[in-house]
Amino acid sequence: MSNKGRPDRIWHIVPLRPPAVRRHCQHCQRRQWFICSEKFRLNRTHGRIDIWLIYKCPVCSSTWNCTLFSRLKVAQLNEDLHRRMVANDRRTVWRFAFDRGVLRANQAEWERTVDYRVEGEPIDLQTVETDTLRILVTCPLPLPVRVEGLLARQFGLSRSRVKGLLLDGLVRLEAGSKRIQEDTWILVDVAAIRAL
Ligand SMILES: [Zn+2]
Repeated sequence: MSNKGRPDRIWHIVPLRPPAVRRHCQHCQRRQWFICSEKFRLNRTHGRIDIWLIYKCPVCSSTWNCTLFSRLKVAQLNEDLHRRMVANDRRTVWRFAFDRGVLRANQAEWERTVDYRVEGEPIDLQTVETDTLRILVTCPLPLPVRVEGLLARQFGLSRSRVKGLLLDGLVRLEAGSKRIQEDTWILVDVAAIRAL
């Protein structure tokens, strides 16, 4: 089977929130998981601009600034991006909050998994009226989604059952990976599963 053509189903993975970042909190005197405030802070001086994404300690509300741009010439900053940052545009916030390069550059330790919801109906493999299924899973943000967990949820099966189906090749990821990438095709041999 190839990835050309239309999928039978599409599932969109939507994270519930950006990953938290673990930092030493000066006020609490211990390490805390700082939550993304979903707000930028911009500071402009002499034609240069600093931009941070603000995180907050969930216990004492102390803030930590995650550096996005440092001493950038204002003229070099894309006008549209600048406008979206001033407005704390959510999509723009999330793009940076999920950017591993940014987090790494800030020496941040970030949460490796974040809860997500799936837009797209679950499938009952016993009653679905088809012998094969080609499911397209989209995950535009770099979220580590384990395929067993996703399929257990969407097929209403236990993780161990899903693991067995993956091992037997009755469900397989076209990319051969165990993780959901940006666009992942999942191929399901429904007839063989029903016959088990
Ligand atoms: Zn604190």
